[in-house]
Amino acid sequence: MKRDVCPICGSSEVSVFLHEAQDYVTGDRFDVLRCRRCEVGFTFPQPENMEIYYPVNYRRYNAWVLIALKTLYHFQVRRWRKLFKKSGSALEMGCGDGLMLDALRRKGWMVAGTERTQEMAEFAKKTLGLQVYVGGLEEIPKGQKFDLIILFQVLEHLNDPVTVIKQCAELLAPEGKLIIAVPNSKSWQSRYSAASWFHLDVPRHLFHFSPTSLQYALHIAGLTISNISYISFEHDPYGWVQSILNKEFDDQNKLTRQLMNLDRFTSGHIFALMMSIALIIPSLVVSITSWVNHTGAIMQVVSSHKNDTNP
Ligand SMILES: [Zn+2]
Repeated sequence: MKRDVCPICGSSEVSVFLHEAQDYVTGDRFDVLRCRRCEVGFTFPQPENMEIYYPVNYRRYNAWVLIALKTLYHFQVRRWRKLFKKSGSALEMGCGDGLMLDALRRKGWMVAGTERTQEMAEFAKKTLGLQVYVGGLEEIPKGQKFDLIILFQVLEHLNDPVTVIKQCAELLAPEGKLIIAVPNSKSWQSRYSAASWFHLDVPRHLFHFSPTSLQYALHIAGLTISNISYISFEHDPYGWVQSILNKEFDDQNKLTRQLMNLDRFTSGHIFALMMSIALIIPSLVVSITSWVNHTGAIMQVVSSHKNDTNP
C-alpha cells in the first residue's frame, strides 16, 4: 500500500488525519491517513504480519460479557428478520464464536459462516455444530447464493474491502441484502476522542469508514444503500466510557484489557472500574443523543443490488 494513494478510489488527495495512534496490545504506533475525495481513512503502515496484533484472548470475553452479548445479539437478529417476509439463507463472514448465526438458526434460517483460521472456527463448528468455512469468501461452493450476508465489525479489518464487497455482491441472491456494521469515523465519539477513540483499534482496523466512503465502496461493487442506522447498544455506550478514560488518563483501553484478561489485576484496575461505573449514565445519555443526530459510533448499513425492484 502506498502512502499517497487512496486504496479505495485511487485519488492522490491523501493527508495525515491522526498521528501516531497507539495499539493497546503491543504499544506500537500508527498513523491514520484520510482521502479527501472519498473520505476513507486507512491505517499506515499496514503490518506485514497481523498475527502479533491479535492476542490469544482477542474477543474472548468473560462469562458475564458473553451473557450480555448473547442478549444483545438476540435483539440484533430480531431487527434483521424484520427486513424479510420469511426465513431464508444467511452467511456471516468472520462469524467468530457463531453466536449471531446460532440466533438466526433458532428462527428457522439456514446459516453458514467463514473464519480466518481453523482454531477460530472451532467453537462454532464443534460446540454449536455450524457450517463454517475456513478462509475467505472464495471457500463458498460455486453457485451458492444467500438472502442475507452479514459483515458485522469485519470490513474494517480487511486489507482489500472493495474486493470483499464485490464477492458479497456475487454471493447475494436476487432481492438479497448485505448488512455491514462498521465504526463511523464521522461520529461524535470519533471526533471527541481522535487518536484515543476506542473503536479506532489500530492496526487491527486497517480502514476507517464514514457514511460517504462506505456508500462509495458499495457503489463500486454495484450495490446501493436502502437503510442506515446509527444505533448500537453493545458498542456505543461502552465506547464512550472507554474513550473518555483513554483521553483523560492516557492509558489506552485499560478497562478492555482487564475484560479480555490481557493484564494482571492491579489497584489501578479498581480505579478504572470505579470511573467506568460513574461514566455509565453520562455515556448512555450522550449515546442516545448521538443516535438521534445520526452521529452514533457504529453505523449499520443495509444494501442490495442496484437493479433490485424492491431494495
Ligand atoms: Zn479515496
